[in-house]
Amino acid sequence: MNIKTVKDLDLTGKKCLVRVDFNVPLKGGLVTDDTRIKAALPTLTYILKQQGTTLILMSHLGRPKGEVKEEFSLRQVKPRLEELLGCKVTMAPDCIGPEVEKIIKTSRPGDVILLENVRFHSEETKNNAHFAEELAKNGEVYINDAFGTAHRAHASTEGVTHFLPSAAGFLIEKEVKFFEPLLTNPEKPFVAIVGGAKVSSKIGVMESLLTRCSSLIIAGGMAYTFLKVTGYTIGNSLFEEDFVKTAQDVLDKAKEKGVEILLPIDHVCAKEFSAEASPVYIESVDIPAGLIGMDIGPKTIESFGSVISKARSLVWNGPMGVFEFETFSKGTVAIAEKVAECGGITVVGGGDSVAAVNKFGFSTRIDHVSTGGGASLEYLEGKTLPGITALKKEK
Ligand code: AMP
Repeated sequence: MNIKTVKDLDLTGKKCLVRVDFNVPLKGGLVTDDTRIKAALPTLTYILKQQGTTLILMSHLGRPKGEVKEEFSLRQVKPRLEELLGCKVTMAPDCIGPEVEKIIKTSRPGDVILLENVRFHSEETKNNAHFAEELAKNGEVYINDAFGTAHRAHASTEGVTHFLPSAAGFLIEKEVKFFEPLLTNPEKPFVAIVGGAKVSSKIGVMESLLTRCSSLIIAGGMAYTFLKVTGYTIGNSLFEEDFVKTAQDVLDKAKEKGVEILLPIDHVCAKEFSAEASPVYIESVDIPAGLIGMDIGPKTIESFGSVISKARSLVWNGPMGVFEFETFSKGTVAIAEKVAECGGITVVGGGDSVAAVNKFGFSTRIDHVSTGGGASLEYLEGKTLPGITALKKEK
């Protein structure tokens, strides 16, 4: 998809309304993880460097469900934003209305204004056209850099584009640059790794990937339903009875399309699902009664690793095991390392696999680590992302 980017807009002297993702974790009114604020900085500083620009920032924070709730106020984000931008930020009392209008009207080039949480208005998530028009009055051009909400047609992500010249910021531009080839014409061999807890949340993505990938690696909690369907014993491992047919359909479709499926061939198990549980290594595919599959074993790491090393393009969504428990994180760490070593184009998308590569320090060695959990999953499923479609060039 060819989208307009911030560089396609003439920003000179303009009031630039930017949708950012400042939905950051907070504790006691303080930002505990500023990754998302930092991620927006390249776009924000680029805009501020253009002559005579004013920055008007809007975002959501948490789920206030259309009500004004202090614990979801973006006021809490302002101090960290000021530190990172190195300038003063004016906090607006709302995101629309006469007071906001006055602040923007009297603003000067170089000023940065942070609007209050757009989700304090229920019209935001309903993509109400009047509300979107009111938001649009805050600027002369609109730039969307919030990939995390691009899969939602909300007033601040989609509605507003009907009222202002619109473009993507550098974050969304990068997401599109890496995801689009995987959806249209991935370099082969294209290896897809799908892990995580449940078959149910990954069916869409597996079905979509099967139409294009060369090999599909299935691991994590969801692998056991596949192993059981294939005829192996899985002990007390995670099993989704309602998705037995789905798993069989995925295996059948892979066969029909000539896609190689790789499942775990050995396991690290535990007697109970706990961080303190002792690891029990099971060298076979079969898991004996009384044990829970918690992670992939060394033979599996080797088998997955040899396919990963030959990939020309690769996407990974979902951890290989219960990586939050240190004892059972080794499989995920090893696969993150193999992905980092892969010479092809590597993309990691989805909340927990992103958390894993960040936690274990591999993010800089991966070509693209997505900034959106749900958005990247829907993108990979081949679904339309309204916030991105709205920025299409031919619009
Ligand atoms: P998802 O959000 O679907 O990507 O799932 C991520 C979650 O899957 C993480 O919290 C992991 O702990 C969990 N997970 C991975 N492997 C297993 C497993 N073998 N058994 C249970 N949960 C798992």
